[in-house]
Amino acid sequence: METETFDAIIVGAGMAGATVAGHLAPERRVALVEAEEAAGYHATGRSAAMYILNYGPPDVRALTGFSRDFFDLPPPGFTDHPLMRRRPVVFLAPQEQRAALDRMLSDVPGLRPITIAEVADMVPALRPDYALAAAIEEDDFDIDVAALHQGFLAMLRAHRGVLALRSRAARIVRRAGSWHVDTASGAVFRATVLVNAAGAWGDEVARIADVAPLGLTPCRRTGVIIDPAPFVPADWPLVNDVGQSWYARPEARTRLMVSPADETPMDPQDVQPDELDIALAIDRMQQALAIPVRRVERSWAGLRTFTPDRSLAIGWDRTAEGFFWCVGQGGYGIQTAPAAGRLVADLIAGRDPRPASHVLEAIDPRRFTSIAN
Ligand SMILES: Cc1cc2nc3c(=O)[nH]c(=O)nc-3n(C[C@H](O)[C@H](O)[C@H](O)COP(=O)(O)OP(=O)(O)OC[C@H]3O[C@@H](n4cnc5c(N)ncnc54)[C@H](O)[C@@H]3O)c2cc1C
Repeated sequence: METETFDAIIVGAGMAGATVAGHLAPERRVALVEAEEAAGYHATGRSAAMYILNYGPPDVRALTGFSRDFFDLPPPGFTDHPLMRRRPVVFLAPQEQRAALDRMLSDVPGLRPITIAEVADMVPALRPDYALAAAIEEDDFDIDVAALHQGFLAMLRAHRGVLALRSRAARIVRRAGSWHVDTASGAVFRATVLVNAAGAWGDEVARIADVAPLGLTPCRRTGVIIDPAPFVPADWPLVNDVGQSWYARPEARTRLMVSPADETPMDPQDVQPDELDIALAIDRMQQALAIPVRRVERSWAGLRTFTPDRSLAIGWDRTAEGFFWCVGQGGYGIQTAPAAGRLVADLIAGRDPRPASHVLEAIDPRRFTSIAN
């Protein structure tokens, strides 16, 4: 099979890879290679689709904030409907989480106290004895993940980029100043730059390329869909406890997604939900909300992949020339994606990635090389 030459090969067509591909395509010829037959089959297609500004470590909060303009005003033709819809987040504090709520209220800008009666007005299923106090973050949103992901893939195609599906990168070698990627489909790609956006498989892709792994940990998280009738939750906020041991958010107009906020370390795989986590999701939600659950309509699990310090890992590898990391998106890979993709394109083009320059040190993958070897 003939080798096709590009400026950059991106491995993994989830949100990370698609976003980088879309931002890079206008100035570089890009090949986006994806193992599965559909882009977004893994973590990207399994998220809770939320934009929560005050979530995750400081670098994540910064990139989430820098993404806001893109979500509000995407480029012309990117999508024909809004990428975000307002969905406040309510934090409930049972007795033992009261002190933690007070700390959150003093540390987190944009969070304000709200009475239990006000929460009950918004969420009539709330059990009056569950929480002693509560807080609300108003400026949060549902994200249209499919529109965002497809918009970036369309940007790639509009600039003559290639999306190669069913093309697991099986052999990756650096030869004569270029990366050569042999894929399971038989196609071979060559480029001076290789971007590792393989999500849970990030360390595996590095090993295939003979690059030291970072020590990534994929963690399973479970989602459960129920019918909360007689309640109609369409306009409810996302509700969770301060300790983040469960959350519930409306799904479509009439359903509720519930999660036990699980975080079970796993090997990279097509992860499936565990019965115990499904039961925990329902049990924890029912301690707070008086919702009868006659049956679970659907459940799924996805992998949230963390670096050892839970900040992102975006930047050039310390030793492998032309090897660029874009991994460790954890539970924030959708809400950070527009700014993270822009940042990667800037770094590859050798530009100052303003306004994100000040997070570069926190997300530099070279901070891990010494501990992962
Ligand atoms: C239940 C749940 C709730 C979440 N909620 C939110 C939320 O509300 N907001 C938010 O911002 N984030 C959320 N997340 C996190 C978010 O989904 C992830 O951070 C994001 O999708 C990661 O995108 P990715 O492209 O890095 O990974 P993925 O979408 O997993 O993409 C990686 C791709 O690489 C491919 N690949 C792997 N190895 C190879 C190879 N050798 N060759 C070719 N392709 C390869 C895989 O097939 C995969 O498609 C949630 C995640 C879960 C599971």
